[in-house]
Amino acid sequence: MDKALYLQPAFMMEKYMEKTIDESIQGSALSLDGKNGNARKLYIESYGCQMNFSDSEIVASILSKEGFDTTQQLNEADLVLVNTCSIREKAELTVRKRLEKFNAIKKERPHLKVGVLGCMAERLKHKFLEEEKIVDMVVGPDAYKDLPNLIQEIDEGRNAVNVILSKEETYGDVAPVRLNTNGITAFVSITRGCDNMCTFCVVPFTRGRERSRDPQSIIQEVNDLWDKGFKEITLLGQNVDSYLWYGGGLKKDFDKASEMERATAVNFSKLLEKVALAQPKMRIRFSTSNPQDMTLDVIHTMAKYENICNYIHLPVQSGSDRILKAMNRLHTRAEYFELIDNIKRIIPDCAISQDMIAGFPTETEEDHQDTLSLMEYVKYEYGFMFAYSERPGTLAERKLEDDVPDDIKKRRLTEIIDLQRQHSFERIQANLGKVQEVLIEGSSKRSDDHWMGRTSQNTVAVFPKEHYQVGDFVMVEMEDCTSATLLGKAVGYSKNQG
Ligand code: SAM
Repeated sequence: MDKALYLQPAFMMEKYMEKTIDESIQGSALSLDGKNGNARKLYIESYGCQMNFSDSEIVASILSKEGFDTTQQLNEADLVLVNTCSIREKAELTVRKRLEKFNAIKKERPHLKVGVLGCMAERLKHKFLEEEKIVDMVVGPDAYKDLPNLIQEIDEGRNAVNVILSKEETYGDVAPVRLNTNGITAFVSITRGCDNMCTFCVVPFTRGRERSRDPQSIIQEVNDLWDKGFKEITLLGQNVDSYLWYGGGLKKDFDKASEMERATAVNFSKLLEKVALAQPKMRIRFSTSNPQDMTLDVIHTMAKYENICNYIHLPVQSGSDRILKAMNRLHTRAEYFELIDNIKRIIPDCAISQDMIAGFPTETEEDHQDTLSLMEYVKYEYGFMFAYSERPGTLAERKLEDDVPDDIKKRRLTEIIDLQRQHSFERIQANLGKVQEVLIEGSSKRSDDHWMGRTSQNTVAVFPKEHYQVGDFVMVEMEDCTSATLLGKAVGYSKNQG
């Protein structure tokens, strides 16, 4: 049983976010507004974390040069690509159902080709082609530049597969095509892969070892986004705080770097500063932070630059030291509290969100109570909460029995969700009466007379449109709230405007 509840402001769920999974956009068919007049049509559907949605933009960019325009109409597609997620069993089951549907369409449109991309492609590799025979092409997350060759293979009637994981690939030289964009907020990938080896997690096996992208290419992308009118970017990676550029190569090989490479290396706080300085009027966010890698200099950099948003997504997964150890999370409960205290001391109005897993193997009632008491200490703004789902090949699957019964997992997850709901409501109410800067992202879904935007803390705010425009930075007085949305009225432009 896999259950997740996302206590995100409703509007945020429309677009957002981060490496974390956003239910409302799962399976979105991504397409570009302006067509290039290419002959063939690509229908690309994305599942899972924000990295996948961002990768789909890279894939669309590569294929636009190969004669493909994106479409949202499945019935006009010549090529269907599904960018997949393996993080929990349910994610894979959803994709399988979709693949069955695409296979059925093939009967009516025999020339249609179907390819599977991303984490499931990497995890199941040739199995898709040989045993299951449900797709024509299997492409892992580091092989997208090989797509032109692979497509030629399938055009000539052969199945194609490339699941080689790379030591270097960061797609730094591919300018992503922005799909389904609001024109205001965008994601910029800064790292790929993950070295953390959390025992529950499939990511190190599907996305390979961690490597960082050249800061020059990151700044170039950010500048380009600003020139195109974007006002906010989120720096993306499985573990952004671990960012380290020393001329290219795997993070784990840094100890083999030359003296010169070490001396000129760029870590995450330096990168954050470079980005903040490159575009001082652009809002900057980042995600995800792993507590074990988040250093004080990052928090100080956030405090120093007004354009870096006061919001940190800081997954903890459990409040029990014993479970944290079994998960190979390389910090204790006390160290996590110390980090939280430092954040609150240095940035008093910083919002913090969490990821939590209920029912990890061997979790006792006492461990679960530790999770609830940790939540009481932090009082997160919101969270992403999951029941543990055993993933093939992970360390937990190999070493530990999935021994917490489903009904207990479910009950513990419900208790975690209920507590988070209570804290989210307390946190959002604390904004009432305050005047906060909101960046307008678009019309409110519920009312065409209202704008929707987000505060620096990432809380969704809705207010009457008056003369303001999409992309404006507006000061909004917060008058009321629902459990996840602030309701207010504009009192003028922010000093950031103009
Ligand atoms: N890199 C981030 C970190 O280390 O905190 C998280 C990456 S993961 C893509 C997103 C979230 O999915 C995790 O933080 C975790 O809460 C959840 N997750 C990962 N593996 C899981 C599993 N096997 N069962 C349930 N939830 C899982």
